[in-house]
Amino acid sequence: MAKDCLFCKIVNKEIDSDIVYEDDKVIVFKDINPKEPVHLLIVPKVHRESIMDLKKEDAELISHMVFVAQEIAKKYNIDDKEKGFNLLNNYGKEGGQEIDHLHVHFLAKSKPST
Ligand code: AMP
Repeated sequence: MAKDCLFCKIVNKEIDSDIVYEDDKVIVFKDINPKEPVHLLIVPKVHRESIMDLKKEDAELISHMVFVAQEIAKKYNIDDKEKGFNLLNNYGKEGGQEIDHLHVHFLAKSKPST
């Protein structure tokens, strides 16, 4: 855990969030300021500041995050090609990264039908 990291505090349940999925490696919660009807953040439990801080040994974690996105798409019934979703990672100031704990935005225009 990194000191003063908002997402580490969410991971450790020191700060409340609307959690939709959790396992030993990641937590997924609703973005507090949603840009689409579905706007979730897929966040690794281990602190990595950004995509640029990933190491070779994080490869399994990153692939796990992708498979979690797949599971969420199924759970929200947006996994068919008529619907769909976006995965987005922001890096750096010009890239729009505001929180320095790696996260992938999961965005979808269709309201979940769960
Ligand atoms: P980024 O700009 O890629 O770093 O994205 C950070 C995201 O975190 C933004 O979309 C914020 O709305 C979101 N966010 C900030 N604080 C919280 C919070 N306490 N709970 C949920 N989402 C948050």
